[in-house]
Amino acid sequence: MAVPQNKVSKSRRNMRRAHDGLTGANPNECPSCGELKRPHHVCPSCGHYADREVVAMANEVDLDEDAA
Ligand SMILES: [Zn+2]
Repeated sequence: MAVPQNKVSKSRRNMRRAHDGLTGANPNECPSCGELKRPHHVCPSCGHYADREVVAMANEVDLDEDAA
């Protein structure tokens, strides 16, 4: 089995890991409801994509029934 010839110092290890950070998502506003959503994805709060509803939202009906 191959064995590293030299111990990697904390400095060198941390320099290697300096590029391992995750970048945040880039959310943008849904044009129909204004909620933040992932680009090129169906809006999870209203079910719209490109100004038309593609996923029927059952929660909208449930909220009205709970209020009444
Ligand atoms: Zn929306």
